[in-house]
Amino acid sequence: MSEKIPYKIYLSESEMPKQWYNLRADMVNKPAPLLNPGTHQPMTAADLAPVFCDDLIKQELDNTTAYFDIPEEILSFYKMYRPSPLVRAYFLEKMLQTPAKIYYKFEGNNTSGSHKLNSAIAQAYYAKKQGLKGVTTETGAGQWGTALSMACSYFDLDCKVYMVKISYEQKPFRREVMRTYGASVVPSPSIETEVGKKILEQHPGTTGSLGCAISEAVEKAVTSEGYRYVLGSVLNQVLLHQSVIGLETKAALDKYGVKADIVIGCAGGGSNLGGLIAPFMGEKIKGEADYRIIAVEPASCPSFTRGKYAYDFCDTGMVCPLAKMYTLGSGFIPASDHAGGLRYHGMSPVLSQLYDDGLMEAVSVKQTDVFEAAEKFARIEGILPAPESAHAIKVAIDKALECKETGEEKTIVFGLTGTGYFDMMAYEKFHDGKMQNYIPTDEEIAENLKQLPKV
Ligand SMILES: *Cc1c(COP(=O)(O)O)cnc(C)c1O
Repeated sequence: MSEKIPYKIYLSESEMPKQWYNLRADMVNKPAPLLNPGTHQPMTAADLAPVFCDDLIKQELDNTTAYFDIPEEILSFYKMYRPSPLVRAYFLEKMLQTPAKIYYKFEGNNTSGSHKLNSAIAQAYYAKKQGLKGVTTETGAGQWGTALSMACSYFDLDCKVYMVKISYEQKPFRREVMRTYGASVVPSPSIETEVGKKILEQHPGTTGSLGCAISEAVEKAVTSEGYRYVLGSVLNQVLLHQSVIGLETKAALDKYGVKADIVIGCAGGGSNLGGLIAPFMGEKIKGEADYRIIAVEPASCPSFTRGKYAYDFCDTGMVCPLAKMYTLGSGFIPASDHAGGLRYHGMSPVLSQLYDDGLMEAVSVKQTDVFEAAEKFARIEGILPAPESAHAIKVAIDKALECKETGEEKTIVFGLTGTGYFDMMAYEKFHDGKMQNYIPTDEEIAENLKQLPKV
């Protein structure tokens, strides 16, 4: 054990990042633009204005400005729960008997329980600055809705959350956290929107999906005076805000002269991973340093590893712009037994481009293996991880065991995006041996990909 490196590396307030890093500025091949679903022309700021806040549109479309100042109000909010610790997993290393050095960046230290607050507070700030009354959004399991309701209550904004119906019914706790912070939470599909009514007509008894809730939230925003829509992942602006994770990680490692070899993160829509890897990938692109960067996704929703890089709809109702991304098709819904999060059909356009350029790798993992890793980690490192985060744990452990085979002392850094207290039903399934590993067949995937828009 090295004496020099503490268990937890914290940055002082003065060492905390004051700017977000926009990786797009350093990408040689830029991510493909969002397209208007009607005309198939790139979305302009004017096209996006009815849907998104003005300053966020600027961030969304800006592929050249490398650094954006973090506004003072956001910096001071960040100080309530940041810097997040970068933890040396000494106990895990010892248990695995690996020569590898393992670090994790823990983002679960706030009431919302995940990294999503980093972008929620930024998006609420820009909505307030624009003088809006409120924002609408969707949430699946509820992490994003929780983070956004906290951010909106801080800035005294109205917050309307369309929550996937099955989660609304089965996960009352997050719903009540959102209501505690003053948000109104509607089960989706609802009869409050035209798209919701249409989906209910076509699929009576449906328990909803993320894609459907997005359609409802967008419709509500564009038809309500003083409201805009906000999204917690996938978009370029969200990756920009989440770069605070990577910048802190890099600063903490640099403080102790540690160079990462492998950087690992779970990937749902790609926001935590995009944020964590940003400064590392920037150096890699510029040829300043080399890193192995690995995205981990569930085998039941394998956008990177089995999807297609193509323009697709971001939502089921097909009201959103088209995004070029690794996708399983907007009609893809992971098997109902899938408990481990990360269930979005597409992937961030930034990460999709980087992956297509061969700058990063992706692996998919089975959910029983994920929960096995989660339990191991909870027992040895003390933190009860979110199932999403446990995807990264699983692969970090795999890589550390590979080092044991080869004797290499690699430095592995992974993102521990959140805690799993609201996911105990999934843990229960695992403990009771009732968790399955449904993996979509090639035919199923091909069938969904037939629905891709012709662009
Ligand atoms: C939402 C969420 C994720 C996945 O979202 P990304 O945008 O891919 O980062 C991962 N972990 C936790 C804890 C989450 O809440």
